[in-house]
Amino acid sequence: MQLTGGQLIGSHKSRQGNKTFTGYRAETGKSLEPDFTEATSDEVDQAVRLAARAAKIYSQTTPENRATFLDRIADEILSLGDALISRCMQETALPEARLTGERGRTAGQLKLFATVLREGSWVEARIDTALPDRQPLPRPDLRRMLIPLGPVGVFGASNFPLAFSVAGGDTASALAAGCPVVFKGHPAHPGTSELVGAAIIRAAQATGMPEGVFSLVQGGSVEVGMALVNHPLIKAIGFTGSFRGGKAIFEAANRREEPVPVYAEMGSTNPVFVLPGIIREKGASLANALAASVTLGVGQFCTNPGLFVALHDEHTEEFISQAGKALAATVPGAMLTGPMLKAYREGIAKLTAIGNTQVVAQADASDGKAGAVMLRTDARQFVENPELAEEVFGPSTVGIVAHSPEELMTIANGLKGHLTATVHGTEEDLREYKPLLDVLGQKVGRLIINAFPTGVEVGYAMQHGGPYPATTDSRTTSVGTAAISRWARPLCYQGFPDDLLPEALKNGNPLGIWRMVNGEWTQSAVA
Ligand code: NAP
Repeated sequence: MQLTGGQLIGSHKSRQGNKTFTGYRAETGKSLEPDFTEATSDEVDQAVRLAARAAKIYSQTTPENRATFLDRIADEILSLGDALISRCMQETALPEARLTGERGRTAGQLKLFATVLREGSWVEARIDTALPDRQPLPRPDLRRMLIPLGPVGVFGASNFPLAFSVAGGDTASALAAGCPVVFKGHPAHPGTSELVGAAIIRAAQATGMPEGVFSLVQGGSVEVGMALVNHPLIKAIGFTGSFRGGKAIFEAANRREEPVPVYAEMGSTNPVFVLPGIIREKGASLANALAASVTLGVGQFCTNPGLFVALHDEHTEEFISQAGKALAATVPGAMLTGPMLKAYREGIAKLTAIGNTQVVAQADASDGKAGAVMLRTDARQFVENPELAEEVFGPSTVGIVAHSPEELMTIANGLKGHLTATVHGTEEDLREYKPLLDVLGQKVGRLIINAFPTGVEVGYAMQHGGPYPATTDSRTTSVGTAAISRWARPLCYQGFPDDLLPEALKNGNPLGIWRMVNGEWTQSAVA
C-alpha cells in the first residue's frame, strides 16, 4: 500500500502545504519514508466544511446503516494485514504481539458499537403521553431522545497507535452516534494513521456513507490541531494524550465564540494502596505483580501504577525491597519516541530531587532504552510536594510509606483526580479500611480491588475517565459503550404527529428499543 503523505479529505487526497515532517523508526530515531505534508488551515477548513455537509445526511442514516459502516471499517482494517502491523512496529517500537492484540481490540470495539446501534436503546428515548384532561392544566405530548451533535474533531495518543488513534474508541463512538469525524493524526505514527484513515474512507464508500463523513489531517505542530479546535463548525472534541495538550485544547475550546465540549482523557498516576494484612499474607507475589504492572509495555500506559502507598512495618520493607528487585531485573525497552524518553529521564531526575525521595531500585538502561525506576518517600514529603503525584510517563513508580492509618488516609484525601485507584487487602483489611474505599471513590473513575489497573476492558460497564486532572469531564468515559453519549445531546419533541417523529419515538416502537413511557421502562408500543 502506497502512502501519499498528505491529508485525506473525504475521498480526496490533498498536499497543499509546504511544511513537511516524517515518521521515525522508534528504535533508532531514523526518519521513515515518505515525507508527510502538514495540513494547512485551508485544508482543515475544507475537511470540516465537508464534514458539516456530510452531517446533514449522516445524522439521518438508520442505526443499521451506521452499524454496517462500522463493521466494514473493522473488516477493512483487518484486511490491511501485515502492512499495517509492520509500519506500526517501525513507528512505535511496540512488539508485533502487542500490536496484533491492539488491532483486534480496535476491530472489536468498532463491532461492539455496531451491536449497540442494532440494539438501539442508547438514544435514551423517554415518552410522556399527552394528558389533555389533566387539571388544572393539560399535559402536552413530550418525547425526548439523544441526537448527534454534528461534526467533531478527534485527537489520538501516541501510546495506542490503533486503539486510541485514527479508528480508536473516540472515532468509533462518534461515528456510531451519527457524527462525522475530522481526525488530527498523531505525528509519532503518521504512516499508521494514513493506512487506517484510508481504510475508513474505503469503508465509507463501500457502504454508501456521505462524502466527508471521515477525514484525516496530519501535522507535527500544534497549529493543525488548534485550527481544528477553533473551527466554528466543529461541535465537540475528543482527545487522548498528555495533560499539557489536553488542557491547552480544553482552554482553546472554551475561548471560542461558541464554546464546545472537550472530552480530554489525560495522564494519571493511578495510586495503588497495599494494606497491612495482604502484605503479611502474600507480599512477595504482590511485589512481583506490582513490578510487572509498572513495567508492562515500558510503562507507556495511562493506567500505569505510578504511585503505591503502604503502612510502615517490616513486611512493607520486605515488600518494597522485593518489588525493587523485580523491577531492577526487567529488561529496558525502547520508548515510543525520542522526546518521550527524554521527558521520562527528566521526570525521574525531577522526582529524585524532591525532599527525601530515594531511588530504591533502577534497571540498567542501555543507550536509547528506558530503564525501570522505583523511588520512595514518606507521607509528609508527599503531602508537601504535590508534584510527586504527577505522571512521569514510562516504567517508574513512587512508593509512599505512611506511619499510621491516619497518614494513609491523609494521602488518600489529598489525591487529585485519577483514572483509577487500586486497593489490595484481605477481607479483614477491606472491612477495616472501608473509609479508604469511600474516599478513593471520590477521586477516580474506576476503583479496583486486588488486581492491577493496567488493562482496560472494552465493554458496557467500563468507566475510563475520572475527575480533573485525569480528564476534563468526569461524567463520561472514553472506553466502552457509554462513550457514545458524549457525541449526542437531548432533543425534546413536543406535540409532534406520529409520522413526523424519529423512529425511536414513534408510537409503534418500530425499532423495538427500551423506552421510558410515562415513567416505566418498556419495549411495548405506546397504546
Ligand atoms: P500528546 O503529546 O498530548 O499528543 C496528543 C495529540 O494532541 C497529538 O496529535 C498532538 O499533536 C496534539 N497536541 C498536543 N498538544 C497540543 C496543543 N497544545 N495544541 C494542539 N494539539 C496538541 O500526547 P502523547 O504524548 O501522544 O500521549 C502520551 C500521554 O497520553 C500520556 O500522558 C498518557 O498517560 C496519556 N494517555 C492517556 C490516556 C487516557 O485514556 N487518559 C490513554 C493513552 C494515553 P502535535 O504533537 O502535533 O501537537
